[in-house]
Amino acid sequence: MPGTIGPKKTWEVSFAGMEGLLTSLLNSGVTVYAPVERKDRLGRYLFARLSHPARMAWNYTTTSLPPKKLFAPPEETLFTFETGKGEPLVKEVCPTEPFVLFGVHPCDLAALDRLDAFYADSPAEYRWQAQRSRATVVGLDCTPDEHCFCVDMGTMETRHPADLFLTPLEQGWLVQTYTDKGEEFLNNTPRERARESAIEEAAKRTGEKRKKAAGRLKGSVEQIAAALSRSDEEFWEKYSAACFSCGSCNLVCPTCHCFCMEDRLDVSLSSGSRIRKWDSCQLAGFAKVAGGGDFRPSASSRMRHRWKHKFVYLPRRFGTAFCVGCGRCTRSCPGGVDMVSVANKLLETFGERVE
Ligand code: SF4
Ligand code: SF4
Repeated sequence: MPGTIGPKKTWEVSFAGMEGLLTSLLNSGVTVYAPVERKDRLGRYLFARLSHPARMAWNYTTTSLPPKKLFAPPEETLFTFETGKGEPLVKEVCPTEPFVLFGVHPCDLAALDRLDAFYADSPAEYRWQAQRSRATVVGLDCTPDEHCFCVDMGTMETRHPADLFLTPLEQGWLVQTYTDKGEEFLNNTPRERARESAIEEAAKRTGEKRKKAAGRLKGSVEQIAAALSRSDEEFWEKYSAACFSCGSCNLVCPTCHCFCMEDRLDVSLSSGSRIRKWDSCQLAGFAKVAGGGDFRPSASSRMRHRWKHKFVYLPRRFGTAFCVGCGRCTRSCPGGVDMVSVANKLLETFGERVE
């Protein structure tokens, strides 16, 4: 998972040039998904099909749902089937048209990178890869808010798997291309090779971000993992007391990937479809098995499992934590469970050395 890699080329594009690029993309009929402000809830954003360049939210904080929804939607039909005379007829449903995913922040790029690794691991999930290959991904620099801890999670400067990445400058955009697709994307856009002063301006912006957002976690991922393995039932009972087991923290998380299946049949029972839907390990009954057994019947056992999955089990397989510090779970939790506060309390209670 190459989090930080050097660009192929670095360009400067004017503000007007970038707007022209978006306009000509939309005029060409290409589908563009980008962050837009919700009309029903101002100040909240979501990735939606862009209808006009003016709807693009260049300064959004975060989106309610992460961009993974465009590759593995909350609910999708995998195939339809019909029975009758002869062999049953099964038709796979898998969209194929290309699209542009515009304006993805570094933490969400890091999350896509982790999901790419997860779904490629044997046995590989070919649907994810098929959906990912449809997209040109345009990254966009961000400004962390009080819930972001991307610096501590090492994702603030992630560029992979963006095809190109945009950083705002006083007088336009610094555009770094990372793939041939990213370079082709700029083909008809007026641009200049970036001046040294523009690259320095972007680096200064990154340095300021780092200063503002670093040090929220009081220990490293390894220290959190070690503290987790020492944590006890009493700790998780205390910190899960505010949990309603609503599952929001999973559903908004850019790296969570659990799902369930449902077969929907028509009334004649002769045709139907198989549906895949997001699921949540925080819901009561998630770990229920045939015969009525439940491996994780309490909110505390489910919360501990979620933490261990992100900081212990998946890092063992993929060498990195499956939390990218986006802060969505904290923002969305109706019980006020705060990822950073719980991590720091874990470190304080069970850590060997806390700085
Ligand atoms: S969002 Fe909060 S209340 Fe809901 S399951 Fe997660 S921790 Fe519990
Ligand atoms: S666990 Fe929370 S902070 Fe970490 S990636 Fe998921 S939603 Fe973001």
